[in-house]
Amino acid sequence: MIRRLVAVFLFAVLLSSNMNTSFAEGNRIVFSDLNEGYWAEKQVYELTSKKVINGFPDNTFRPDLEVTRAQFAAMVSRALNLADADSNFKDVPKSSSLYKEVSRAAAAGIIVGDGSGSFHPDRHVSRAEMAIMLDRAIQLKGEFLVFQPLSFADKNDIGKSAQESVKRLTNYQVMDAQKENKFLPNEKGTRVETTVAVYQMLKAIKEQHEVVGISHIYAGKIDANPSLRVRQEASTESAVLGRLNNGTIIRILTEDDNWYKIKFNNDYGFVAKDFVKILATVEQPKDDVDISNPPEEDAPPVEGGQPVEPPVEEQPSEDQNNEEKLKQVEYLKGEVTASFLNVRKNANATAEKVGQLTVSTVVNILKTEGDWHEILYQGNKGYIHKSFVKLLDTPSINVLKNKVIMIDPGHGGKDPGAVVGELKESDVVLKVSLLMKDLLEAEGATVIMTRSDDTFLTLAQRAELANSIEALDLFLSVHANAATTDTANGVESYWNKTNSSDFSQLLTRKLQDQLLSHMKLANRGVKHANFQVIRDTKAPSTLVELGFMTNNKDINYMKTDDYYQDAANGLFHGIVDYFSSVITE
Ligand SMILES: [Zn+2]
Repeated sequence: MIRRLVAVFLFAVLLSSNMNTSFAEGNRIVFSDLNEGYWAEKQVYELTSKKVINGFPDNTFRPDLEVTRAQFAAMVSRALNLADADSNFKDVPKSSSLYKEVSRAAAAGIIVGDGSGSFHPDRHVSRAEMAIMLDRAIQLKGEFLVFQPLSFADKNDIGKSAQESVKRLTNYQVMDAQKENKFLPNEKGTRVETTVAVYQMLKAIKEQHEVVGISHIYAGKIDANPSLRVRQEASTESAVLGRLNNGTIIRILTEDDNWYKIKFNNDYGFVAKDFVKILATVEQPKDDVDISNPPEEDAPPVEGGQPVEPPVEEQPSEDQNNEEKLKQVEYLKGEVTASFLNVRKNANATAEKVGQLTVSTVVNILKTEGDWHEILYQGNKGYIHKSFVKLLDTPSINVLKNKVIMIDPGHGGKDPGAVVGELKESDVVLKVSLLMKDLLEAEGATVIMTRSDDTFLTLAQRAELANSIEALDLFLSVHANAATTDTANGVESYWNKTNSSDFSQLLTRKLQDQLLSHMKLANRGVKHANFQVIRDTKAPSTLVELGFMTNNKDINYMKTDDYYQDAANGLFHGIVDYFSSVITE
């Protein structure tokens, strides 16, 4: 317990110490090959003083020397003070000088194998590989989900596996163009570049923690049979909010002596520390490591010389799946246990990667082929390796039981919304909302309407009403669209990042998917918008636009009974899907 608190304190020091040279001034070695005012002087002295990277015994830094994959993984392990762990890469034996650091990075999900169990430790790290590893690393310490479209002159040279990472790292200024607006993904990372990138990662983490007020975020695994109570406050006297099953992966937000604070049921809860195993945490920096040795040059170049992250599948974890279970039930849910798990187009490790799932994501398993689970991913079939999926018990039929849901039919009273002929938006959305209310209540949900008749409410009143209900699980605003042209058509759903953003985003995706599979409307996608009702509402929230009243096809559909039933069904199933995906008790 004490050790952990010390570790947290040290981590705080690491992040909060002034990011300038004064930190190291007292005992700093001045590198003979860096001129005063060297462009990355601050970053080099900062990270060498913390022993994230070391100088050479002759007092040089050798900024242009290339860094190997193992050396880079080691830098990241030390920068984040990752917990000790073991790994079993074929080419990183226990006797290897960087075995410990590589293992720490592997256990935290920052590095993964090449599908055949090798890591290629001595290969030089490319800038694309740096981006992938730093992206995985930074996600352990916060929510770095916002990305920027790529605008580099050579953006098409960035391999598919690195694109998302580069987009995010660019947004948080962890990595940027190297020269002439080129990212140069295949260029080898040098000691100075890797130092600057790791420094920038720490800076981004520090800034987010200051803004968001989180000291650190890391993952833990429930270690209590059969389950662990989640309490409202950090006290055994406090009310029990629910339970987490043994083996559930949780994200820890903060801690005190005995309790971890976690997100639970779209709110916060507390679990006793003694029953949680930490997966990636912060520890005192190790002093006995040195990556100053020049990279070994005897490693033969890898076949084809493609310096992009090889197709990766993590090694099997201790969470081997239960074959019997699979045979008994046809329809299963699984929870992702790896920090990042690739979704592939086919059931093999070399198949095209179509996306990535993060730890704790719950998926519906359609079927299992060999080592692979078939799942639905963004509307298409995808495959994930079953070693990193923990099977959950038979899907809960009662996901809506005790859920508190607010439905907000848009407009009303003096504000009819869009009006086309006889049809008023305020009437259309009220009718859909009331049908949906019946469906939800039949499954045990408590439904609160912002309005149940033709009443006027301001946008602020709607959000206020939502925020006045502490136990609110979900807020759904229902609208129909209008445009100045009659060609615009289809259904679109909106979320806002201000509150409960990850939940809102998930909810919005689920709703859009189900609306598309129930309604005869085109897909206009899931979008972020600054609408007041979803911005100001604290609970996970979404706003749906159920077709265009200004489009012939859409409005003809709106004139049928089918439209209302389809819309209510789609929204109902989207809500069920959402609650099935969020970890509850
Ligand atoms: Zn509207």
